[in-house]
Amino acid sequence: MSEEKSSSTTATIVKVHKCPICGKLTDNAKYRPFCSKRCADIDLGTWFNEGYVIEGKNPVDEEESE
Ligand SMILES: [Zn+2]
Repeated sequence: MSEEKSSSTTATIVKVHKCPICGKLTDNAKYRPFCSKRCADIDLGTWFNEGYVIEGKNPVDEEESE
Protein backbone atom coordinates (compact mmCIF):
# COMPACT_ATOMS: atom_id res chain seq x y z
CA MET A 1 0.00 0.00 0.00
CA SER A 2 1.89 2.97 -1.19
CA GLU A 3 -0.87 5.37 -1.77
CA GLU A 4 0.40 8.67 -0.62
CA LYS A 5 -1.50 11.78 -1.25
CA SER A 6 1.02 14.50 -1.72
CA SER A 7 -1.39 17.28 -1.18
CA SER A 8 0.43 18.83 1.73
CA THR A 9 3.57 19.00 -0.35
CA THR A 10 2.03 21.28 -2.91
CA ALA A 11 0.44 23.37 -0.22
CA THR A 12 3.88 24.21 1.09
CA ILE A 13 4.37 26.66 -1.71
CA VAL A 14 3.36 29.95 -0.24
CA LYS A 15 3.82 33.18 -2.03
CA VAL A 16 5.85 35.11 0.41
CA HIS A 17 7.37 38.44 -0.28
CA LYS A 18 9.63 40.75 1.59
CA CYS A 19 8.19 43.86 3.08
CA PRO A 20 10.18 46.86 1.81
CA ILE A 21 9.56 48.71 5.04
CA CYS A 22 10.50 46.32 7.82
CA GLY A 23 12.09 43.63 5.67
CA LYS A 24 9.87 40.95 7.12
CA LEU A 25 8.83 37.99 5.05
CA THR A 26 5.09 37.94 4.73
CA ASP A 27 2.39 36.23 2.73
CA ASN A 28 -0.14 38.95 3.28
CA ALA A 29 -1.59 39.65 -0.12
CA LYS A 30 -3.90 42.37 1.05
CA TYR A 31 -1.25 44.96 1.69
CA ARG A 32 1.28 43.90 -0.88
CA PRO A 33 4.06 44.59 -1.15
CA PHE A 34 3.86 45.47 2.51
CA CYS A 35 3.26 43.08 5.37
CA SER A 36 0.56 45.11 7.01
CA LYS A 37 -1.40 48.30 6.82
CA ARG A 38 1.02 49.85 9.24
CA CYS A 39 3.95 49.41 6.90
CA ALA A 40 1.84 50.65 4.01
CA ASP A 41 1.05 53.74 6.04
CA ILE A 42 4.70 54.20 6.87
CA ASP A 43 5.58 54.11 3.21
CA LEU A 44 2.90 56.67 2.50
CA GLY A 45 4.15 58.84 5.33
CA THR A 46 7.67 58.62 3.96
CA TRP A 47 6.51 59.99 0.66
CA PHE A 48 4.71 62.84 2.35
CA ASN A 49 7.70 63.57 4.53
CA GLU A 50 10.03 63.68 1.58
CA GLY A 51 7.69 66.10 -0.12
CA TYR A 52 7.73 68.30 2.93
CA VAL A 53 11.49 68.26 3.22
CA ILE A 54 11.99 69.17 -0.40
CA GLU A 55 9.43 71.93 -0.35
CA GLY A 56 10.29 73.13 3.11
CA LYS A 57 13.60 74.08 4.56
CA ASN A 58 16.84 72.20 4.76
CA PRO A 59 17.51 71.30 8.37
CA VAL A 60 21.11 70.58 7.55
CA ASP A 61 21.67 73.83 5.77
CA GLU A 62 21.08 76.41 8.46
CA GLU A 63 22.20 74.55 11.51
CA GLU A 64 25.43 76.20 12.56
CA SER A 65 25.80 79.25 10.40
CA GLU A 66 26.51 81.71 13.13
ZN1 LIG B 1 6.41 45.43 7.13
